[in-house]
Amino acid sequence: MIVAESKPFKEIYEWVKDLKKICVIGCGDCVTVCHMGGQKQVEELAIKLRIAAKREGRELDVKEDTVLRQCEQEYVEPIGNYVNEYDAVISIACGVGVQTLAEKFTPAKIYPGVNTTFMGAPVKPGLFLERCAGCGDCVLDITGGYCPISRCSKSLLNGPCGGSVGGKCEVSKDIPCVWQEIYEQLDKQGIINYMDEIRPPKRWSTSTGSFPRKLELKHLQVEEE
Ligand code: SF4
Ligand code: SF4
Repeated sequence: MIVAESKPFKEIYEWVKDLKKICVIGCGDCVTVCHMGGQKQVEELAIKLRIAAKREGRELDVKEDTVLRQCEQEYVEPIGNYVNEYDAVISIACGVGVQTLAEKFTPAKIYPGVNTTFMGAPVKPGLFLERCAGCGDCVLDITGGYCPISRCSKSLLNGPCGGSVGGKCEVSKDIPCVWQEIYEQLDKQGIINYMDEIRPPKRWSTSTGSFPRKLELKHLQVEEE
């Protein structure tokens, strides 16, 4: 799932301080699971915005809405019925959702109410940890299912650095050294010999930062008239 964190309220209010009518739009998927952008958070943000405006002696009309999945064109379709009647939209979906609204509803102004942070997993109530960096060339087959790209502070591929002490990363005592975890996992799986293999330099051309990536399924594409 995609994990996000609310932007500081001050930053959000700055966008709307001179506006009269805005919408706050949430997403019922990942950001609902991490308690940052679902219906409840839409209601909370809308109330805070109305109160902040009232304190300045003005009325702010805030429409609230949440779609099932803001990153998909079909799901955001109903927003088109009203979005351009408003001065701006604060989307509290991930960056993909914000961009879906911006592309579909031009010239509506769409602002990001959350900072999209990482792809991760809820490991216990209230704790989400990064698990994948979308490197485009997965190596989990040789690391016992533990990702050294997102979970090693240096994204090392050939074992731990010299800073791994007592199973902890040198960056912080709160961060497990994933290479210690990989070692223990491979040992349990009876393939500890994987640790001895030297991995050649990774293919980074498929990773973020190289070019805007895409997945193209030609057999599913419909020619536009
Ligand atoms: S190796 Fe790459 S694709 Fe696989 S989990 Fe790690 S970052 Fe994600
Ligand atoms: S201590 Fe472990 S997790 Fe931290 S940077 Fe070194 S190898 Fe990576």
